[in-house]
Amino acid sequence: MIRAAMEIGATQADFEQTEEEQMTRWDVALPGDVFWELANDRALEAAREGRLQDLSMIQFRQALFLFEEGRDHTTMLAESNRTRLREYEVEGVVRVAILSNGCCEHCGSFGETVYPIHRALTEMPIPRQGCTYSPSRSGGTGWCICMWAPNV
Ligand SMILES: [Zn+2]
Repeated sequence: MIRAAMEIGATQADFEQTEEEQMTRWDVALPGDVFWELANDRALEAAREGRLQDLSMIQFRQALFLFEEGRDHTTMLAESNRTRLREYEVEGVVRVAILSNGCCEHCGSFGETVYPIHRALTEMPIPRQGCTYSPSRSGGTGWCICMWAPNV
């Protein structure tokens, strides 16, 4: 869980400090809860400072955490995709395309999909329902790795 925390830019010291604070507050500090608090703090900070790329990455890592815990990850993964779209919008990108390379047959069956960015933000077609991709041999399926890219 410390590794997950480091992937969102926290240090081991950050992790231990939050762990201590949770111990004081609740008499218990589960590693997953420590990660989640660190991630939420960093997501808020990134949102406040308009660092959309960082925010999208943190949300992505939070979605992966939920997926690995066997909990519903689709809302968080959708948020990560939405933040990515907002980032492109700020950069002046007009059209975006869904890249399905390496995802599952289901997602590949949609073919080339180009959207005006405002329609992508309204319709939010990814992560795809019915995706069968699994990131690991042992893990569950439905971790949709389709992603947006600027279409130029
Ligand atoms: Zn898929």
